[in-house]
Amino acid sequence: MTPEEAWRALEEDLADYLERKGVVPSCRAGCFACCFGLVTLSRLEGLALLPHLTPLQKARLLEEGPRRLALLQEGKDDPHFPSRFFQSRTPCPLLEEGLCGVYPQRPLACRGLLTEGDPRLCAPEATPPKGHFLPVPWRMARLRMEALWEEERRRFGHALIGELASLLYLLLKGLPQDREGVEALLRELGVLGGRWGYQVL
Ligand code: SF4
Repeated sequence: MTPEEAWRALEEDLADYLERKGVVPSCRAGCFACCFGLVTLSRLEGLALLPHLTPLQKARLLEEGPRRLALLQEGKDDPHFPSRFFQSRTPCPLLEEGLCGVYPQRPLACRGLLTEGDPRLCAPEATPPKGHFLPVPWRMARLRMEALWEEERRRFGHALIGELASLLYLLLKGLPQDREGVEALLRELGVLGGRWGYQVL
């Protein structure tokens, strides 16, 4: 399975599920609170996204990547890191005037985060009730992610998962293909493992 196939399959599954259940997400164009969150990506998804990036998007990733790596190095073991990161209100560098700049190629993690609740409760300062983010779409996205990790293992001998902007930055700079090389680089950067750091599976 390719990332493009996984993205398409998830969209079809989601449309089918939402129609069957009569669920109408309140997510709309111009609503982007979830783009302040800590989003993860796999190497395969990143490689599929890379050729679609504009020079400006690449420039923003080259600027933001080192900053996020430093944040991860400092906070990857902190159980509160995602909420600290969310509340720092640093948007995804691919967010452009309130819209996703890579919408057709956005990662599974972005596609699976939906709500039918009040969108104001998605904001970093809000405290959404349990179930605000729909659990079934998220599980559907997670299953597709796991299928892609398997595919990545078949191709590279391992799967690499990490924070979206910093992983795209590392891919732009050139990542080793082999597991040992990847682990050595991530260890040197201080972002391998821990609760929120990069995972090599
Ligand atoms: S990739 Fe797009 S949808 Fe995902 S966090 Fe970035 S701007 Fe938002």
